[in-house]
Amino acid sequence: MDSRSDRLHIVFFPHMSHGHLIPTMDLARTFSKHVGVKATIVTTALNAALFSETIERDQKLGLDISIRTLRFPGREAGLPEGCESLNSVTSMEMGLNYYKAIRMLREPLAEILQEFRPSCLVADTMFPWATEVASRFGIPRLIFHGTSLFAMCAFFSVRLHEPHREVGSDHELFILPGLPDEIKMTRMQLPSYVRERIDNDLTRMIDESVEADGASFGVVVNSFRELEPAYSEHYMKVLGRRVWHVGPVSLCNRSIQDKEQRGNGNKSSVEGQECLEWLESKKPDSVIFLSFGSMFEFSGQQLLEIVMGLEASGQQFILAIRNKGNTDGDDVLPKGIEKSVKEKGKGLIVRGWAPQVLILEHEAVGGFVTHCGWNSTLEAITAGVPMLTWPLYAEQFYNEKLVTDVLRVGVGLGAQECERWSSERKFLVGRKEIEGAVLRFMVGEEAVEIRRRAKALGEAARRAVERGGSSYCDAEALLAELRSKLP
Ligand code: UDP
Repeated sequence: MDSRSDRLHIVFFPHMSHGHLIPTMDLARTFSKHVGVKATIVTTALNAALFSETIERDQKLGLDISIRTLRFPGREAGLPEGCESLNSVTSMEMGLNYYKAIRMLREPLAEILQEFRPSCLVADTMFPWATEVASRFGIPRLIFHGTSLFAMCAFFSVRLHEPHREVGSDHELFILPGLPDEIKMTRMQLPSYVRERIDNDLTRMIDESVEADGASFGVVVNSFRELEPAYSEHYMKVLGRRVWHVGPVSLCNRSIQDKEQRGNGNKSSVEGQECLEWLESKKPDSVIFLSFGSMFEFSGQQLLEIVMGLEASGQQFILAIRNKGNTDGDDVLPKGIEKSVKEKGKGLIVRGWAPQVLILEHEAVGGFVTHCGWNSTLEAITAGVPMLTWPLYAEQFYNEKLVTDVLRVGVGLGAQECERWSSERKFLVGRKEIEGAVLRFMVGEEAVEIRRRAKALGEAARRAVERGGSSYCDAEALLAELRSKLP
Protein backbone atom coordinates (compact mmCIF):
# COMPACT_ATOMS: atom_id res chain seq x y z
CA MET A 1 0.00 0.00 0.00
CA ASP A 2 1.20 3.54 -0.71
CA SER A 3 2.80 5.34 2.19
CA ARG A 4 1.50 8.82 1.27
CA SER A 5 -2.04 9.02 2.55
CA ASP A 6 -3.36 11.22 -0.27
CA ARG A 7 -1.98 9.04 -3.03
CA LEU A 8 -4.50 6.98 -4.97
CA HIS A 9 -3.75 3.60 -6.42
CA ILE A 10 -6.34 2.62 -9.02
CA VAL A 11 -6.41 -0.88 -10.45
CA PHE A 12 -7.95 -1.27 -13.91
CA PHE A 13 -9.25 -4.63 -15.03
CA PRO A 14 -10.20 -4.52 -18.72
CA HIS A 15 -12.21 -7.08 -20.59
CA MET A 16 -10.00 -8.97 -23.06
CA SER A 17 -11.02 -7.67 -26.43
CA HIS A 18 -9.49 -4.83 -28.40
CA GLY A 19 -12.68 -2.77 -28.15
CA HIS A 20 -12.44 -2.82 -24.35
CA LEU A 21 -8.67 -3.07 -23.82
CA ILE A 22 -7.86 -0.03 -25.95
CA PRO A 23 -10.15 2.43 -24.12
CA THR A 24 -9.33 0.96 -20.68
CA MET A 25 -5.61 1.42 -21.33
CA ASP A 26 -6.38 4.98 -22.41
CA LEU A 27 -8.52 5.43 -19.31
CA ALA A 28 -5.70 4.27 -17.02
CA ARG A 29 -3.26 6.52 -18.85
CA THR A 30 -5.68 9.46 -18.57
CA PHE A 31 -6.01 8.99 -14.81
CA SER A 32 -2.28 8.50 -14.27
CA LYS A 33 -1.72 11.97 -15.75
CA HIS A 34 -3.62 13.47 -12.81
CA VAL A 35 -1.48 14.42 -9.83
CA GLY A 36 -1.03 11.75 -7.16
CA VAL A 37 -2.46 8.81 -9.07
CA LYS A 38 -0.80 5.45 -9.54
CA ALA A 39 -2.44 3.18 -12.13
CA THR A 40 -2.04 -0.59 -12.48
CA ILE A 41 -3.66 -2.47 -15.34
CA VAL A 42 -4.35 -6.15 -14.73
CA THR A 43 -4.50 -8.35 -17.81
CA THR A 44 -3.09 -11.53 -19.35
CA ALA A 45 0.40 -11.74 -20.85
CA LEU A 46 -0.70 -11.84 -24.51
CA ASN A 47 -2.91 -8.79 -24.05
CA ALA A 48 -0.29 -6.95 -22.01
CA ALA A 49 2.18 -7.35 -24.88
CA LEU A 50 -0.06 -5.23 -27.10
CA PHE A 51 0.46 -2.20 -24.89
CA SER A 52 3.81 -2.70 -23.16
CA GLU A 53 5.79 -0.19 -25.22
CA THR A 54 3.20 2.53 -24.83
CA ILE A 55 3.20 2.01 -21.08
CA GLU A 56 7.01 2.05 -21.01
CA ARG A 57 6.99 5.38 -22.85
CA ASP A 58 4.57 6.74 -20.25
CA GLN A 59 6.83 5.50 -17.45
CA LYS A 60 9.81 7.27 -19.03
CA LEU A 61 7.74 10.46 -19.03
CA GLY A 62 7.39 10.04 -15.26
CA LEU A 63 3.89 8.57 -15.02
CA ASP A 64 3.25 6.02 -12.30
CA ILE A 65 1.64 3.34 -14.46
CA SER A 66 2.31 -0.36 -14.96
CA ILE A 67 0.79 -3.63 -16.10
CA ARG A 68 0.35 -6.65 -13.85
CA THR A 69 -0.28 -9.95 -15.62
CA LEU A 70 -2.41 -12.90 -14.56
CA ARG A 71 -2.81 -16.31 -16.16
CA PHE A 72 -5.76 -16.86 -18.48
CA PRO A 73 -7.57 -20.17 -17.72
CA GLY A 74 -8.29 -20.87 -21.39
CA ARG A 75 -7.30 -24.54 -21.31
CA GLU A 76 -9.58 -25.25 -18.33
CA ALA A 77 -12.48 -23.74 -20.26
CA GLY A 78 -11.80 -25.73 -23.43
CA LEU A 79 -10.19 -22.94 -25.45
CA PRO A 80 -7.22 -23.50 -27.76
CA GLU A 81 -3.73 -22.37 -26.78
CA GLY A 82 -3.23 -18.64 -27.35
CA CYS A 83 -6.91 -17.69 -27.16
CA GLU A 84 -6.89 -14.99 -24.48
CA SER A 85 -9.20 -12.52 -26.12
CA LEU A 86 -12.65 -12.25 -27.62
CA ASN A 87 -10.83 -11.21 -30.80
CA SER A 88 -9.54 -14.78 -31.20
CA VAL A 89 -13.01 -16.29 -30.82
CA THR A 90 -14.41 -17.55 -34.12
CA SER A 91 -17.77 -19.11 -33.25
CA MET A 92 -20.63 -18.85 -30.78
CA GLU A 93 -19.53 -22.12 -29.12
CA MET A 94 -16.01 -20.83 -28.61
CA GLY A 95 -17.50 -17.58 -27.30
CA LEU A 96 -19.38 -19.47 -24.58
CA ASN A 97 -16.15 -21.21 -23.49
CA TYR A 98 -14.50 -17.84 -23.43
CA TYR A 99 -17.20 -16.50 -21.05
CA LYS A 100 -16.59 -19.59 -18.87
CA ALA A 101 -12.87 -18.76 -18.77
CA ILE A 102 -13.35 -15.16 -17.71
CA ARG A 103 -15.58 -16.29 -14.82
CA MET A 104 -12.56 -18.21 -13.50
CA LEU A 105 -10.60 -14.98 -13.10
CA ARG A 106 -12.47 -14.12 -9.90
CA GLU A 107 -10.02 -15.55 -7.35
CA PRO A 108 -6.85 -14.57 -9.28
CA LEU A 109 -8.17 -10.97 -9.24
CA ALA A 110 -8.88 -11.27 -5.50
CA GLU A 111 -5.27 -12.34 -4.90
CA ILE A 112 -3.98 -9.28 -6.73
CA LEU A 113 -6.26 -6.95 -4.75
CA GLN A 114 -5.14 -8.66 -1.54
CA GLU A 115 -1.54 -7.95 -2.48
CA PHE A 116 -1.99 -4.35 -3.65
CA ARG A 117 -4.84 -3.14 -1.46
CA PRO A 118 -5.56 -0.33 -3.94
CA SER A 119 -7.87 2.64 -3.33
CA CYS A 120 -10.27 1.70 -6.12
CA LEU A 121 -10.99 -0.97 -8.73
CA VAL A 122 -12.22 -0.01 -12.20
CA ALA A 123 -13.42 -3.26 -13.74
CA ASP A 124 -15.22 -3.96 -16.97
CA THR A 125 -18.95 -4.65 -16.91
CA MET A 126 -18.16 -8.17 -18.21
CA PHE A 127 -16.83 -8.97 -14.73
CA PRO A 128 -19.97 -8.51 -12.60
CA TRP A 129 -18.41 -10.48 -9.72
CA ALA A 130 -15.67 -7.84 -9.40
CA THR A 131 -18.03 -5.78 -7.20
CA GLU A 132 -18.12 -8.58 -4.61
CA VAL A 133 -14.34 -9.13 -4.88
CA ALA A 134 -13.65 -5.43 -4.28
CA SER A 135 -16.06 -5.33 -1.34
CA ARG A 136 -14.07 -8.12 0.40
CA PHE A 137 -11.25 -5.60 0.71
CA GLY A 138 -13.44 -2.55 1.36
CA ILE A 139 -12.51 -1.09 -2.04
CA PRO A 140 -14.99 0.90 -4.16
CA ARG A 141 -15.65 -0.76 -7.52
CA LEU A 142 -16.30 1.41 -10.54
CA ILE A 143 -17.74 -0.06 -13.74
CA PHE A 144 -16.50 0.60 -17.25
CA HIS A 145 -19.07 -0.35 -19.89
CA GLY A 146 -17.09 0.74 -22.92
CA THR A 147 -20.18 2.09 -24.69
CA SER A 148 -22.29 5.24 -24.88
CA LEU A 149 -24.75 6.36 -22.23
CA PHE A 150 -27.34 6.37 -24.99
CA ALA A 151 -26.74 2.66 -25.63
CA MET A 152 -26.98 1.89 -21.93
CA CYS A 153 -30.28 3.78 -21.64
CA ALA A 154 -31.62 2.00 -24.74
CA PHE A 155 -30.51 -1.36 -23.33
CA PHE A 156 -32.46 -0.71 -20.11
CA SER A 157 -35.51 0.53 -22.02
CA VAL A 158 -35.68 -2.73 -23.99
CA ARG A 159 -34.91 -4.85 -20.95
CA LEU A 160 -37.57 -3.24 -18.76
CA HIS A 161 -40.38 -2.71 -21.28
CA GLU A 162 -39.72 -5.42 -23.92
CA PRO A 163 -41.33 -3.36 -26.72
CA HIS A 164 -40.16 -5.93 -29.29
CA ARG A 165 -42.69 -8.39 -27.87
CA GLU A 166 -45.55 -6.06 -28.83
CA VAL A 167 -44.91 -6.03 -32.58
CA GLY A 168 -46.20 -8.52 -35.11
CA SER A 169 -43.04 -9.02 -37.18
CA ASP A 170 -39.25 -8.80 -37.06
CA HIS A 171 -39.23 -5.69 -39.27
CA GLU A 172 -42.07 -3.67 -37.72
CA LEU A 173 -40.88 -0.51 -36.01
CA PHE A 174 -41.47 0.06 -32.29
CA ILE A 175 -40.58 2.98 -30.02
CA LEU A 176 -38.09 2.49 -27.19
CA PRO A 177 -40.22 3.51 -24.17
CA GLY A 178 -39.16 6.12 -21.64
CA LEU A 179 -36.20 7.61 -23.52
CA PRO A 180 -35.72 11.39 -23.90
CA ASP A 181 -36.16 11.15 -27.72
CA GLU A 182 -38.52 9.12 -29.88
CA ILE A 183 -36.21 6.30 -30.96
CA LYS A 184 -37.58 3.63 -33.29
CA MET A 185 -36.08 0.23 -33.98
CA THR A 186 -37.06 -3.20 -35.23
CA ARG A 187 -36.70 -6.57 -33.55
CA MET A 188 -34.00 -7.63 -36.03
CA GLN A 189 -31.84 -4.69 -34.94
CA LEU A 190 -31.68 -5.98 -31.36
CA PRO A 191 -28.95 -8.43 -30.32
CA SER A 192 -30.00 -12.05 -30.88
CA TYR A 193 -29.83 -12.91 -27.16
CA VAL A 194 -32.50 -10.22 -26.56
CA ARG A 195 -34.66 -11.33 -29.48
CA GLU A 196 -34.52 -15.00 -28.58
CA ARG A 197 -34.30 -14.97 -24.75
CA ILE A 198 -31.41 -17.43 -24.81
CA ASP A 199 -30.14 -18.77 -21.47
CA ASN A 200 -26.37 -19.32 -21.52
CA ASP A 201 -23.13 -18.06 -19.94
CA LEU A 202 -23.33 -14.81 -21.88
CA THR A 203 -26.93 -13.96 -20.93
CA ARG A 204 -26.32 -14.97 -17.29
CA MET A 205 -23.30 -12.68 -17.25
CA ILE A 206 -25.44 -9.84 -18.63
CA ASP A 207 -28.09 -10.40 -15.91
CA GLU A 208 -25.40 -10.39 -13.24
CA SER A 209 -23.86 -7.24 -14.75
CA VAL A 210 -27.17 -5.43 -14.41
CA GLU A 211 -27.29 -6.35 -10.73
CA ALA A 212 -23.65 -5.36 -10.22
CA ASP A 213 -24.38 -2.03 -11.91
CA GLY A 214 -26.79 -1.11 -9.15
CA ALA A 215 -24.52 -2.35 -6.35
CA SER A 216 -21.33 -0.61 -7.47
CA PHE A 217 -19.85 2.75 -6.55
CA GLY A 218 -20.68 4.12 -10.00
CA VAL A 219 -19.79 4.18 -13.64
CA VAL A 220 -16.93 5.80 -15.54
CA VAL A 221 -17.93 6.43 -19.10
CA ASN A 222 -15.96 7.16 -22.25
CA SER A 223 -18.15 10.08 -23.22
CA PHE A 224 -18.36 13.78 -22.34
CA ARG A 225 -21.13 15.80 -20.71
CA GLU A 226 -21.84 17.93 -23.78
CA LEU A 227 -22.32 14.94 -26.07
CA GLU A 228 -25.43 13.16 -24.79
CA PRO A 229 -26.65 15.25 -21.84
CA ALA A 230 -30.26 14.01 -21.89
CA TYR A 231 -29.01 10.43 -21.68
CA SER A 232 -26.51 11.23 -18.91
CA GLU A 233 -29.39 12.67 -16.93
CA HIS A 234 -31.67 9.74 -17.75
CA TYR A 235 -29.03 7.25 -16.69
CA MET A 236 -28.34 9.09 -13.45
CA LYS A 237 -31.86 10.13 -12.44
CA VAL A 238 -34.16 7.50 -13.91
CA LEU A 239 -31.84 4.54 -13.53
CA GLY A 240 -30.26 5.87 -10.34
CA ARG A 241 -26.59 5.44 -11.22
CA ARG A 242 -23.65 7.69 -10.45
CA VAL A 243 -21.69 8.60 -13.58
CA TRP A 244 -18.35 10.28 -14.23
CA HIS A 245 -17.71 11.29 -17.85
CA VAL A 246 -14.01 11.11 -18.58
CA GLY A 247 -13.77 10.91 -22.38
CA PRO A 248 -12.93 10.94 -25.13
CA VAL A 249 -10.09 8.87 -23.68
CA SER A 250 -8.44 8.41 -27.11
CA LEU A 251 -7.25 12.01 -26.73
CA CYS A 252 -4.69 10.89 -24.13
CA ASN A 253 -2.65 9.73 -27.15
CA ARG A 254 -0.71 12.87 -27.96
CA SER A 255 2.37 11.64 -29.83
CA ILE A 256 2.28 10.27 -33.39
CA GLN A 257 3.92 7.09 -32.11
CA ASP A 258 1.19 6.51 -29.51
CA LYS A 259 -1.52 7.06 -32.12
CA GLU A 260 0.16 4.89 -34.74
CA GLN A 261 0.76 1.95 -32.45
CA ARG A 262 -2.47 2.16 -30.45
CA GLY A 263 -3.83 -1.36 -30.09
CA ASN A 264 -1.35 -2.83 -32.55
CA GLY A 265 1.18 -4.63 -30.39
CA ASN A 266 3.62 -1.71 -30.39
CA LYS A 267 4.00 -1.88 -34.16
CA SER A 268 3.43 0.71 -36.84
CA SER A 269 2.08 -1.17 -39.85
CA VAL A 270 3.59 -0.73 -43.30
CA GLU A 271 0.12 -0.37 -44.78
CA GLY A 272 -0.68 2.23 -42.15
CA GLN A 273 2.29 4.30 -43.28
CA GLU A 274 1.19 3.88 -46.86
CA CYS A 275 -2.32 5.17 -46.02
CA LEU A 276 -0.98 8.26 -44.36
CA GLU A 277 1.37 9.04 -47.26
CA TRP A 278 -1.48 8.49 -49.73
CA LEU A 279 -3.74 10.86 -47.76
CA GLU A 280 -1.08 13.59 -47.96
CA SER A 281 -1.74 13.99 -51.67
CA LYS A 282 -5.51 14.40 -51.27
CA LYS A 283 -7.69 17.48 -50.90
CA PRO A 284 -9.46 18.24 -47.56
CA ASP A 285 -12.63 16.23 -46.92
CA SER A 286 -12.24 14.31 -50.19
CA VAL A 287 -11.62 10.75 -48.93
CA ILE A 288 -14.07 8.31 -47.34
CA PHE A 289 -12.60 5.90 -44.78
CA LEU A 290 -14.25 2.53 -44.11
CA SER A 291 -13.45 0.39 -41.08
CA PHE A 292 -15.56 -2.10 -39.14
CA GLY A 293 -13.73 -2.50 -35.85
CA SER A 294 -11.21 -4.94 -34.52
CA MET A 295 -12.99 -8.25 -35.10
CA PHE A 296 -15.62 -8.34 -37.76
CA GLU A 297 -14.91 -10.12 -41.04
CA PHE A 298 -17.21 -9.64 -44.00
CA SER A 299 -17.77 -12.44 -46.51
CA GLY A 300 -15.73 -12.15 -49.71
CA GLN A 301 -18.98 -11.53 -51.60
CA GLN A 302 -19.89 -8.58 -49.39
CA LEU A 303 -16.37 -7.15 -49.65
CA LEU A 304 -16.59 -7.30 -53.41
CA GLU A 305 -19.92 -5.43 -53.34
CA ILE A 306 -18.31 -2.76 -51.16
CA VAL A 307 -15.32 -2.31 -53.47
CA MET A 308 -17.49 -2.22 -56.61
CA GLY A 309 -19.91 0.26 -55.00
CA LEU A 310 -17.05 2.52 -53.93
CA GLU A 311 -15.43 2.45 -57.35
CA ALA A 312 -18.75 3.24 -59.05
CA SER A 313 -19.30 6.22 -56.72
CA GLY A 314 -16.10 7.80 -58.07
CA GLN A 315 -15.13 8.82 -54.52
CA GLN A 316 -11.63 8.26 -53.16
CA PHE A 317 -11.51 5.73 -50.35
CA ILE A 318 -9.49 3.75 -47.82
CA LEU A 319 -11.08 0.42 -46.92
CA ALA A 320 -9.67 -1.29 -43.80
CA ILE A 321 -10.57 -4.97 -43.48
CA ARG A 322 -9.74 -7.55 -40.84
CA ASN A 323 -9.98 -10.52 -43.23
CA LYS A 324 -6.66 -12.33 -43.39
CA GLY A 325 -7.11 -13.24 -47.06
CA ASN A 326 -4.90 -16.30 -46.82
CA THR A 327 -7.50 -19.04 -46.87
CA ASP A 328 -9.75 -20.53 -49.49
CA GLY A 329 -12.82 -19.77 -47.42
CA ASP A 330 -15.43 -17.25 -48.38
CA ASP A 331 -13.62 -14.40 -46.63
CA VAL A 332 -11.34 -13.54 -49.52
CA LEU A 333 -11.55 -10.89 -52.17
CA PRO A 334 -10.92 -11.99 -55.74
CA LYS A 335 -7.19 -12.23 -56.50
CA GLY A 336 -5.53 -9.04 -57.64
CA ILE A 337 -8.32 -6.68 -56.62
CA GLU A 338 -6.23 -4.74 -54.12
CA LYS A 339 -3.56 -4.15 -56.76
CA SER A 340 -6.07 -3.06 -59.36
CA VAL A 341 -7.78 -0.67 -56.92
CA LYS A 342 -4.42 0.86 -56.04
CA GLU A 343 -3.33 1.23 -59.65
CA LYS A 344 -6.46 3.19 -60.50
CA GLY A 345 -5.31 5.70 -57.86
CA LYS A 346 -8.76 6.12 -56.32
CA GLY A 347 -8.49 3.85 -53.35
CA LEU A 348 -6.53 1.69 -50.94
CA ILE A 349 -7.46 -1.56 -49.27
CA VAL A 350 -5.69 -2.10 -45.94
CA ARG A 351 -5.47 -5.53 -44.40
CA GLY A 352 -4.39 -5.84 -40.83
CA TRP A 353 -4.29 -2.91 -38.46
CA ALA A 354 -5.03 0.60 -39.71
CA PRO A 355 -3.90 3.56 -37.57
CA GLN A 356 -7.53 4.61 -37.26
CA VAL A 357 -7.17 7.64 -35.03
CA LEU A 358 -4.46 9.13 -37.28
CA ILE A 359 -6.51 8.46 -40.42
CA LEU A 360 -9.64 10.03 -38.94
CA GLU A 361 -7.66 13.07 -37.83
CA HIS A 362 -6.24 13.63 -41.31
CA GLU A 363 -7.79 16.65 -43.01
CA ALA A 364 -8.26 14.70 -46.27
CA VAL A 365 -10.78 12.38 -44.58
CA GLY A 366 -14.30 13.73 -45.05
CA GLY A 367 -16.40 10.73 -44.07
CA PHE A 368 -16.28 7.47 -42.14
CA VAL A 369 -18.26 4.31 -42.88
CA THR A 370 -18.41 2.68 -39.46
CA HIS A 371 -19.96 -0.33 -37.74
CA CYS A 372 -20.75 1.99 -34.81
CA GLY A 373 -18.59 0.25 -32.22
CA TRP A 374 -18.46 2.91 -29.53
CA ASN A 375 -14.72 3.54 -29.78
CA SER A 376 -14.88 4.10 -33.52
CA THR A 377 -17.98 6.27 -33.18
CA LEU A 378 -16.42 8.46 -30.52
CA GLU A 379 -13.12 8.66 -32.40
CA ALA A 380 -15.00 9.98 -35.44
CA ILE A 381 -16.93 12.45 -33.28
CA THR A 382 -13.65 13.62 -31.74
CA ALA A 383 -12.06 14.09 -35.16
CA GLY A 384 -15.14 15.98 -36.40
CA VAL A 385 -15.77 13.43 -39.17
CA PRO A 386 -19.37 12.63 -40.24
CA MET A 387 -20.45 9.01 -40.33
CA LEU A 388 -22.23 6.72 -42.75
CA THR A 389 -23.45 4.07 -40.35
CA TRP A 390 -23.41 0.33 -40.96
CA PRO A 391 -24.01 -1.35 -37.61
CA LEU A 392 -23.44 -5.10 -37.49
CA TYR A 393 -23.99 -6.60 -34.03
CA ALA A 394 -24.09 -6.07 -30.23
CA GLU A 395 -25.13 -2.55 -29.19
CA GLN A 396 -24.03 -1.00 -32.50
CA PHE A 397 -27.60 -0.40 -33.70
CA TYR A 398 -28.22 1.73 -30.58
CA ASN A 399 -25.10 3.77 -31.29
CA GLU A 400 -26.30 4.23 -34.85
CA LYS A 401 -29.50 5.86 -33.54
CA LEU A 402 -27.46 8.24 -31.40
CA VAL A 403 -25.40 9.28 -34.43
CA THR A 404 -28.21 9.59 -36.97
CA ASP A 405 -31.29 10.58 -34.94
CA VAL A 406 -29.97 12.42 -31.87
CA LEU A 407 -26.63 14.02 -32.77
CA ARG A 408 -27.40 14.09 -36.50
CA VAL A 409 -23.74 13.79 -37.47
CA GLY A 410 -24.32 10.83 -39.75
CA VAL A 411 -26.75 8.96 -41.95
CA GLY A 412 -27.68 5.31 -41.99
CA LEU A 413 -26.74 2.96 -44.80
CA GLY A 414 -29.84 0.88 -44.14
CA ALA A 415 -28.48 -2.10 -42.16
CA GLN A 416 -31.32 -4.19 -40.79
CA GLU A 417 -29.97 -7.22 -39.00
CA CYS A 418 -27.93 -7.48 -35.83
CA GLU A 419 -25.77 -10.61 -36.05
CA ARG A 420 -22.17 -11.43 -35.22
CA TRP A 421 -21.36 -14.87 -36.58
CA SER A 422 -20.76 -15.39 -40.26
CA SER A 423 -22.76 -18.60 -40.62
CA GLU A 424 -25.84 -16.72 -39.46
CA ARG A 425 -25.10 -13.56 -41.43
CA LYS A 426 -27.87 -12.95 -43.89
CA PHE A 427 -27.55 -9.26 -44.62
CA LEU A 428 -25.92 -8.12 -47.79
CA VAL A 429 -25.77 -4.54 -48.91
CA GLY A 430 -25.44 -4.44 -52.68
CA ARG A 431 -23.05 -2.34 -54.78
CA LYS A 432 -25.83 -0.05 -56.09
CA GLU A 433 -27.01 0.80 -52.56
CA ILE A 434 -23.41 1.45 -51.49
CA GLU A 435 -22.69 3.64 -54.50
CA GLY A 436 -25.84 5.74 -53.91
CA ALA A 437 -25.32 6.07 -50.16
CA VAL A 438 -21.66 7.09 -50.54
CA LEU A 439 -22.49 9.70 -53.17
CA ARG A 440 -25.32 11.27 -51.15
CA PHE A 441 -23.14 11.22 -48.06
CA MET A 442 -20.01 12.75 -49.58
CA VAL A 443 -21.41 15.28 -52.02
CA GLY A 444 -25.17 15.61 -51.46
CA GLU A 445 -26.82 18.76 -50.06
CA GLU A 446 -27.39 17.15 -46.70
CA ALA A 447 -23.65 16.55 -46.37
CA VAL A 448 -22.84 20.23 -45.75
CA GLU A 449 -25.00 20.54 -42.63
CA ILE A 450 -23.89 17.18 -41.27
CA ARG A 451 -20.25 18.13 -41.75
CA ARG A 452 -20.79 21.46 -39.96
CA ARG A 453 -22.41 19.76 -36.96
CA ALA A 454 -19.68 17.08 -36.86
CA LYS A 455 -16.89 19.66 -36.79
CA ALA A 456 -18.57 21.60 -33.95
CA LEU A 457 -18.95 18.41 -31.92
CA GLY A 458 -15.28 17.55 -32.52
CA GLU A 459 -14.25 20.89 -31.04
CA ALA A 460 -16.48 20.30 -27.99
CA ALA A 461 -14.89 16.85 -27.53
CA ARG A 462 -11.38 18.27 -27.52
CA ARG A 463 -12.34 21.06 -25.11
CA ALA A 464 -13.83 18.50 -22.69
CA VAL A 465 -10.49 16.86 -21.91
CA GLU A 466 -8.42 20.05 -21.61
CA ARG A 467 -7.65 21.37 -18.12
CA GLY A 468 -10.89 22.94 -16.88
CA GLY A 469 -12.99 21.05 -19.48
CA SER A 470 -15.97 18.95 -18.39
CA SER A 471 -14.25 15.55 -18.56
CA TYR A 472 -11.10 16.83 -16.89
CA CYS A 473 -13.22 18.25 -14.05
CA ASP A 474 -15.33 15.10 -13.74
CA ALA A 475 -12.16 13.03 -13.39
CA GLU A 476 -10.83 15.45 -10.75
CA ALA A 477 -14.14 15.28 -8.85
CA LEU A 478 -14.01 11.48 -8.84
CA LEU A 479 -10.40 11.45 -7.66
CA ALA A 480 -11.23 13.94 -4.88
CA GLU A 481 -14.09 11.73 -3.70
CA LEU A 482 -11.88 8.63 -3.75
CA ARG A 483 -9.22 10.54 -1.80
CA SER A 484 -11.80 11.50 0.82
CA LYS A 485 -12.40 7.79 1.43
CA LEU A 486 -8.76 6.96 2.05
CA PRO A 487 -8.06 5.72 5.57
N1 UDP B 1 -8.89 -0.09 -34.59
C1 UDP B 1 -7.76 0.39 -35.18
N2 UDP B 1 -7.36 -0.13 -36.37
C2 UDP B 1 -8.05 -1.11 -37.01
C3 UDP B 1 -9.23 -1.61 -36.39
C4 UDP B 1 -9.63 -1.08 -35.20
O1 UDP B 1 -7.08 1.28 -34.65
O2 UDP B 1 -7.64 -1.53 -38.09
C5 UDP B 1 -9.30 0.44 -33.27
C6 UDP B 1 -10.32 1.55 -33.38
O3 UDP B 1 -9.68 2.80 -33.51
C7 UDP B 1 -11.06 1.41 -32.05
C8 UDP B 1 -11.00 -0.08 -31.76
O4 UDP B 1 -9.93 -0.59 -32.54
O5 UDP B 1 -10.39 2.10 -31.04
C9 UDP B 1 -12.27 -0.82 -32.15
O6 UDP B 1 -13.25 -0.59 -31.19
P1 UDP B 1 -14.77 -0.43 -31.56
O7 UDP B 1 -15.52 -0.20 -30.28
O8 UDP B 1 -14.95 0.63 -32.58
O9 UDP B 1 -15.17 -1.79 -32.24
P2 UDP B 1 -14.95 -3.34 -31.88
O10 UDP B 1 -13.60 -3.72 -32.29
O11 UDP B 1 -15.18 -3.48 -30.39
O12 UDP B 1 -16.00 -4.01 -32.70
